Amino acid sequence: MKIYNTKTRRKEEFKPINEGKVGIYVCGPTVYDFIHIGNARPMIVFDTLRRYLEHKGYEVNYVSNFTDVDDKIIKRSNEEGVPSIEISEKFIGECKKDMEALNVRLATTHPQATQEIPEMIQMVQTLIDKGHAYEKNGTVYFRVRSFEPYGKLSHKNIDDLESGHRAEAHALKVTGEDEKEDALDFVLWKPKKEGEPSWESPWGEGRPGWHLECSCMSKKYVGDTVDIHAGGEDLIFPHHENEIAQSEAANGCEFANYWMHNAFLKIDGEKMSKSLGNFFTVRDVCSQYDPQVFRFFMLQAHYRTPLNFSRELVEDASRGLERILNGAEKLREIADKKNGRFIMDDEQRILEVEMPKFIERFDTAMDDDLNTADAISVIFELVRFTNANTSEKSSSNFADCLYRILFELCDTVLGISLERKAAQIDETEVAQIEALIAERTAAKKEKNFARADEIRAQLMDMGIIIEDTREGVKWKKA
Ligand code: AMP
Ligand code: ZN
Repeated sequence: MKIYNTKTRRKEEFKPINEGKVGIYVCGPTVYDFIHIGNARPMIVFDTLRRYLEHKGYEVNYVSNFTDVDDKIIKRSNEEGVPSIEISEKFIGECKKDMEALNVRLATTHPQATQEIPEMIQMVQTLIDKGHAYEKNGTVYFRVRSFEPYGKLSHKNIDDLESGHRAEAHALKVTGEDEKEDALDFVLWKPKKEGEPSWESPWGEGRPGWHLECSCMSKKYVGDTVDIHAGGEDLIFPHHENEIAQSEAANGCEFANYWMHNAFLKIDGEKMSKSLGNFFTVRDVCSQYDPQVFRFFMLQAHYRTPLNFSRELVEDASRGLERILNGAEKLREIADKKNGRFIMDDEQRILEVEMPKFIERFDTAMDDDLNTADAISVIFELVRFTNANTSEKSSSNFADCLYRILFELCDTVLGISLERKAAQIDETEVAQIEALIAERTAAKKEKNFARADEIRAQLMDMGIIIEDTREGVKWKKA
């Protein structure tokens, strides 16, 4: 498999440190609110990477943190007058619910910054001992100029950065806060402020800097060198650059062999973010669409391409997914037929030879830097092949073979279930819909077709489509 490595700016053949095993660390969200659909992009993309590596036979150790101590969490805790742990625990729970809806599997480990403080203090001490960090009035800074390769990930030149910081350095002098040796230096440990969570340390009570958290958690749960480190592209600088500086200075070895970064999810051409106020939460979107539609929409674009979010594009994705689900349904019906034909005929046996080629072509697309867009085109071809070559009379074995391939590629690897899932409608609404359907069935029995049509129209207005099938009435969100 080839992976585009941000560090070398090239696609490189992926070789794990230990044969057959892969260690991945993905920077997770800061938990101070519901996650927005931009945050869901790295979750979906790298969950798909993990699934694909497993499909290729690797054993994957997938670690993704929750940043549960941070200015934004503290701000919210002060606004609401509750301890910051209450805020972070609540939104970790909500984030896990969103992940489940989007079929993002739980990580092997989800470390939380506040539970790893002793390891962080240890790393800061190591950096001080090695001359890479220094303490001033309770704050510990990383000495950027002591780490010669600084800038190697973001391809930034340290002298350019220095001149960029000159104005800032001047401002600090004016306010008397020019305690840093160099404007480039960043914080590893900050001293306690009133009303903030804090921990004892050799430099007084305080809390860790954000970059330090990831360096420590990836060291503890993946190792000194991780195979793949990933996150959104806004993290390249300074977050990941600083993680490299801390980890390599402390551990004396390469921090990550491959760096993968997803492009932004945008809205009207601008990055979707909380601070700009132009965001939708995963919760909002999943109440309007089958969450699978949203995952499918996300994967129809290559992860390094910026993706614009719009209702029309999600609806296009919904129609595309519908074709796949219809194909899957047809296969299931034929495969499950009890008294149909089981054995393949000669023509089907010839076609059977074509089937593994779909897996090969899907894998070729995914091997090319996780090209889910091309991989999905192969799934559409498989569905066309299915529609062209199966009918009610097909052998159940033939349909079953096709279904298994579709299941492996779509469900197991891309994480898109072949069963329809309703948008997340609350239980009262479900009860209301089912009562109306029962009333319509009764009206039809009594030949009161006017009432039956009225109910169908009422359901349509609620955004519910019903379908009369041999097994009874089926319904779904439009
Ligand atoms: P944060 O909680 O802001 O640290 O973000 C968590 C993850 O979501 C990081 O990997 C970010 O890079 C990523 N992220 C945030 N906004 C977007 C966006 N609009 N598009 C794609 N990824 C994003
Ligand atoms: Zn991180």
